[in-house]
Amino acid sequence: MAIKDNINIKDHKTTCASKILESFISPFDATVIEKLKAADVIFIGKTNMDEFAMGSSSENSIFGAVKNPYDPERVAGGSSGGSAVAVAIGACDAALGSETGGSIRQPASFTGLVGVKPTYGRVSRYGLVAYASSLDQIGAFAKTSEDAALILKTIAGHDVHDSTSAAEPVPDYDRVVGKEIKGLKIGLPEEYFAEGLDPEIRSGIMNAVRQLEKEGAKIETFSLPQTRYAIATYYIIATAEASSNLARYDGVRYGYRAQDAGDLNEMYEKTRSEGFGEEVKRRILLGTYVLSAGYYDAYYKKAMQVRRLIKDELNSAFQKYDAIITPTTPTTAFRLGEKIDDPLTMYLMDIYTVTANLAGICAMNAPVGKNSDRLPFGLQIMAPAFKEECLFQLGAFFEK
Ligand code: GLN
Repeated sequence: MAIKDNINIKDHKTTCASKILESFISPFDATVIEKLKAADVIFIGKTNMDEFAMGSSSENSIFGAVKNPYDPERVAGGSSGGSAVAVAIGACDAALGSETGGSIRQPASFTGLVGVKPTYGRVSRYGLVAYASSLDQIGAFAKTSEDAALILKTIAGHDVHDSTSAAEPVPDYDRVVGKEIKGLKIGLPEEYFAEGLDPEIRSGIMNAVRQLEKEGAKIETFSLPQTRYAIATYYIIATAEASSNLARYDGVRYGYRAQDAGDLNEMYEKTRSEGFGEEVKRRILLGTYVLSAGYYDAYYKKAMQVRRLIKDELNSAFQKYDAIITPTTPTTAFRLGEKIDDPLTMYLMDIYTVTANLAGICAMNAPVGKNSDRLPFGLQIMAPAFKEECLFQLGAFFEK
């Protein structure tokens, strides 16, 4: 397996693709690494990513951009782009990534893989470098749903080192592979199939959905009107939490320290100015702004309220449906450099994925096929919290 470079492996570097952690060597194993080691997993290396997992293209890295193996002029998606590519080219059987707003599902879609974001709390985050703690979750890339199920079974479970990890029992996720889907109720939210969606992706998904219907699943269209606030809500909450989490990189505790500073404040300032990349600084500034005294109520508090509405809306949809199917991404992989100077356009790439993180539910990319340019794309399956079985069951059906 390959491991995203924001997950700690003892005695190896954990850089987060940032200058500020460029020479940081981890003194401990993340819980997921401990569990994989106990299962005799062999690690082939750490993978490139967007700096501190902030991005949707794996271009924000001190090591340079990750390229898409289906077309090296295009991005692999992000932020876990390196992990996706390692599996897509067959360098390893599976990889770990992390998700805050789509960083596994989106690159999985761009590289034709299964990519699973487990329920918030399903997997211990002890040893994962924090980005936005109310959203972060570790997950996996694999070629098949069965492989992804086996990995989740291995890494899931409660951990005394992570108070947000859930005490829920861990099912035999791989057991559901091949289970018939007859009788499942599936919802298609119309907001996810509206303007902005690549028509080839839409028709690919609708074909896959028809197969489900043929097998006896019940398909219904419905509405999730709060969806339109998801990106704004996500980018307020994620940046607010990032600004707080990233305060620890001060040049004192660990990581990069700027030279020739006159006093302590200057040392902080120079260290952080030199150590963080552009996008990370943008997030810290945005996050500090939305949390500041005059703006807290207007932005942060409001975003928290809308987050609750988004979560309630999804949970009430799950009263009716076993799973929700949507596109994972509005387009296939875009060109390197195409969106990097336009943060808002880049942020909009996450439009279909961030709701699952905001609601804390589980979701997965299942590969659907390739478009006329031979670029892969997938569909997204969302299921209620702790119902990952349903993701793997449907994913395995689509593979068949
Ligand atoms: N693209 C999103 C962001 O930049 C999600 C990243 C992630 O899931 N780590 O915040």
